[in-house]
Amino acid sequence: MKTIYKRILLKLSGESLMGSQGYGIDPQRVNDYAEQIKEIVEAGVQVAIVIGGGNIFRGLKGASQGFDRVKGDQMGMLATVINSLALASALEDMGQPAQVFTAINMFPIGEHYSKWRAIEAMKQGKVAIMSCGTGSPYFTTDTGSTLRGIEVEADVMLKGTRVDGIYTADPEKDPTATKFDRISYDEIYNRGLKVMDMTATVMARDNHLPIHVFNMDVKGNLRRVIAGENLGTVVY
Ligand code: UDP
Repeated sequence: MKTIYKRILLKLSGESLMGSQGYGIDPQRVNDYAEQIKEIVEAGVQVAIVIGGGNIFRGLKGASQGFDRVKGDQMGMLATVINSLALASALEDMGQPAQVFTAINMFPIGEHYSKWRAIEAMKQGKVAIMSCGTGSPYFTTDTGSTLRGIEVEADVMLKGTRVDGIYTADPEKDPTATKFDRISYDEIYNRGLKVMDMTATVMARDNHLPIHVFNMDVKGNLRRVIAGENLGTVVY
């Protein structure tokens, strides 16, 4: 298979791991993702992954319920570790080696993250799953994945979502919304589109990390994006 990207940072939202459930982890969904990921590693792509934690806990929501914000964010970061372990387990079950890294030291749950260790793991054919986002409160895993993507020198950040790209408006609410094939970081900002938070978008722009948004819930789409099929939206 011809691949247009050699090293990718794949961002998966925590919510997408819920599948049809209202909370937590849907094992079927995790297995579907693991299968898609294994397929591209076998095609020779080096894969780093950052997973969110919104299916379990979000710091902002916690703060609105009276939790201390920093503790709430730490709870959210721990949620990303739970999701990362689930994905690593599913990958290993399929015979695809994976290694969980943690931005906060919590050995032996994962190895304390470093750029070089993560690259080393990918070169060995392991999927490098980077948990805890940035490791600091007041950030999101979108920013965590932008940061890690830049650090490990990924060709692109692939943002797997439930919709098939970036639209002029929310396609679930506005039937006249149209999809962009390509859009600049600045146009996202000027149009006020909610693709990622501003911190993540600006960081990607300033460091020239392209973002490719696509629907990861359609099986085979990850391979199609990697093969260069015209799918999703590229942010440049
Ligand atoms: N979080 C954090 N710092 C980070 C990344 C995440 O404090 O660098 C916390 C934050 O509370 C966030 C939660 O972890 O709400 C889960 O991450 P996120 O909301 O990005 O998950 P997603 O929306 O992708 O499921």
